[in-house]
Amino acid sequence: MHSPQCDVIIAGCGPTGAMLAAELRLHAVRVLVLEKETEPASFVRIVGLHIRSIELMAMRGLLERILERGRRRPAAGFFAAIDKPAPEGLNSAYAYLLGIPQPVIVDLLEEHAMELGAQVRHGCAVVGFEQDDDGVTVELGDGERLRSRYLVGCDGGRSTVRKLLGVAFPGEPSRSETLMGEMEVGAPQEEVAATVSELRETDRRFSLAPAGVGVYRVVVPTAGVSDRAAPPTLEDFRRQLRAIAGTDFGVHSPRWLSRFGDATRLAERYRVGRVLLAGDAAHVHPPIGGQGLNLGVQDAVNLGWKLAAQVRGWAPETLLDTYHTERHPVAGDVLDNTRAQMELLSTEPGPRAVRRLLTELMDFEEVNRHLMEKITAIGIRYDFGDGPDLLGRRLPDIDLKQGHLYGLLHRGRGLLLDRTERLTVGGWSDRVDHLADPTAALDAPCVLLRPDGHVAWVGDDQRDLDKHLSRWFGRPAN
Ligand SMILES: Cc1cc2nc3c(=O)[nH]c(=O)nc-3n(C[C@H](O)[C@H](O)[C@H](O)COP(=O)(O)OP(=O)(O)OC[C@H]3O[C@@H](n4cnc5c(N)ncnc54)[C@H](O)[C@@H]3O)c2cc1C
Repeated sequence: MHSPQCDVIIAGCGPTGAMLAAELRLHAVRVLVLEKETEPASFVRIVGLHIRSIELMAMRGLLERILERGRRRPAAGFFAAIDKPAPEGLNSAYAYLLGIPQPVIVDLLEEHAMELGAQVRHGCAVVGFEQDDDGVTVELGDGERLRSRYLVGCDGGRSTVRKLLGVAFPGEPSRSETLMGEMEVGAPQEEVAATVSELRETDRRFSLAPAGVGVYRVVVPTAGVSDRAAPPTLEDFRRQLRAIAGTDFGVHSPRWLSRFGDATRLAERYRVGRVLLAGDAAHVHPPIGGQGLNLGVQDAVNLGWKLAAQVRGWAPETLLDTYHTERHPVAGDVLDNTRAQMELLSTEPGPRAVRRLLTELMDFEEVNRHLMEKITAIGIRYDFGDGPDLLGRRLPDIDLKQGHLYGLLHRGRGLLLDRTERLTVGGWSDRVDHLADPTAALDAPCVLLRPDGHVAWVGDDQRDLDKHLSRWFGRPAN
């Protein structure tokens, strides 16, 4: 077989693929992203970036660019759309939600990846691949064949890569659908506002809200599942609005119309040999709580440095497999919380009573905080074995004598944050930075941070540190 043209091919340039490409480029891995579409989608979903994703943007120096294009909103009301203020003292400098159109975030991440040297080819669909001991041969729609050492399927919920890989995708199929679109409304504004507010008292899945001059965004649930291949028509919206609201509000002149289902599925394996899955290709769930894109971007940051280490040749034996062991349970937890949220949106008397009870319980700060840390992903603690509570958690953007922690993580390297001023990273200095700072606002003598910002070690003993440097960063250079 001929030699690889690049190190990693990524199928799909959505948010996950673009973020992964950028993460790999931080380590000079040769990356080619293949995106089947030539144009962005006609429909524009506004997505919410949650705290952990905003932190990741700050960690990679992207925060200012992203803030410019999004709108900050309070970090509250996420769980099943239960209207409660944010809990006190969330442990983050970025405790807000950033609303941003999905195409804008995809553009920004793609631009960032390309600035770092990733190649992106649009209009190239991956239709097949074969893997062997040395690499993967990827086949495109026009018959072209490309060779790489690894392939990552970031090609969305109907992932071709996942299907060809034969990885099972167990879970529940779509049982109901929601129509979503932007259109003009003929009924008077006051009448619309009154009907909508009455309806939302009992059905939080329904919404009809202004989305620009003269245009409304309409979100309306339907019973059952239609032929997903056919896009919805304006008549579908009218019929469903009449069924739910008793009026179609005189909707006309649609800008775009789309639909989404509530399938909930998780890939059984995230890796088979040289082929991996990330983002929606690995997990799908209803959009309640706004977690899918966040989860995909966070998969990319977890996988990027590990796959780079594998390509560069310094990865410890089992490092790449920790991508599955760490991220699969996180997605499982997100799937479960969306299942719970969907139940809480039901208009049946039982779920409505549970919703009222949970609404009361959320007055307890601890309950509110627990749910918030789940949805925003700042509560994640990977299982790195026994150790203090900090081990496996992400470190917030703490103050240092030379600024903020996240400012030191832009290059995606490990970091030894050392308050003792007597430890060293020795032969790992090509992969791990060392900052001695006795003033660091840290509740531990010293921590070792992985490139994804999670705490890989806590302590003050050099021999123990060396053991953990080997565990995460392989053999020392000399
Ligand atoms: C109504 C709605 C609201 C949402 N709101 C939020 C929210 O507020 N917050 C949030 O976090 N998430 C939200 N989501 C979920 C979010 O949109 C997805 O989770 C996210 O798009 C997943 O990103 P991805 O890159 O993994 O996959 P995708 O965005 O699906 O990208 C996959 C890419 O791969 C390309 N592709 C597909 N097949 C191939 C192939 N064979 N070869 C090459 N390229 C291919 C596609 O064209 C596409 O560009 C929402 C979803 C919906 C439906």
